[in-house]
Amino acid sequence: MNVDHERMVAMLTRLKLTAIRDHLDTLLDEAARQELNLREALAFLCEAEVARKDQRRIRMGTSIAKFPTVRTLDGFEYDAQPSVDPGQIRDLATGRWVANGDNLLLLGPPGVGKTHLAIALGRESIERGYTVLFAPATALVANLAKAHRDGNLEQRIAFYAKPKLLIVDELGYLPFESDASHLFFQLVSRRYERGSTLITSNRSVAEWGSVFGDPVVATAILDRLLHHSHVITIRGDSYRLREKRRSGLLRGGAVASPA
Ligand code: ADP
Ligand code: MG
Repeated sequence: MNVDHERMVAMLTRLKLTAIRDHLDTLLDEAARQELNLREALAFLCEAEVARKDQRRIRMGTSIAKFPTVRTLDGFEYDAQPSVDPGQIRDLATGRWVANGDNLLLLGPPGVGKTHLAIALGRESIERGYTVLFAPATALVANLAKAHRDGNLEQRIAFYAKPKLLIVDELGYLPFESDASHLFFQLVSRRYERGSTLITSNRSVAEWGSVFGDPVVATAILDRLLHHSHVITIRGDSYRLREKRRSGLLRGGAVASPA
């Protein structure tokens, strides 16, 4: 009996069925308790293994993505942001746009939830099996510029071109140097029609000429980004300020106008 168990463990290890191996007795006891037939018991064991593998893949994918914080779609209050259409976000959460290699622009003033939605949609994409990388725009451009100086631009562009979804956060907070605009253009061209790019920006598309310092480069970048794209423009108040106002309202007790 004991020998059998060791043999089972050895075989499960060799097959890399580690969840079944680690919980073998519990799983078999449970299968017996539920009086599962062989087919059902096999499905039950497979489910345990698949769940473990999914969990690990999501954990790995999330760590590779380098999100700055944890943000989820469940944590997004639609009531606080009436200009965001919940149906459209649910549709994006299916990941179909990533499968198609479409781009997504999230535009709007500071504090309206652009980065929150970008991270949350990034997580959804990982759960659906896509590789994701989150990069603040300034860091991405600084990395490209450094690689250019060091003579390994090609490698850096390949690095940023690789993930199925690249999230470029906060484009336009600082204007780009003209060299940087050209480097960014190279990256956008490389990703064009291969992978999805999600960009958050506090600037409207019309203002991108001044962000890139060169209307010709800006047009070339926009031309590729907008070709297969979804654009969500969020209007309204900063969520952070709203929270501040609300807590002020709770503490103060004075008559305050609703936001
Ligand atoms: P932006 O990127 O547009 O400047 P953020 O996404 O960083 O704004 O949002 C600022 C803060 O407010 C974050 O902590 C974010 O999680 C939170 N936040 C913004 N909008 C919402 C919302 N509708 N529901 C819940 N939290 C929100
Ligand atoms: Mg942001």
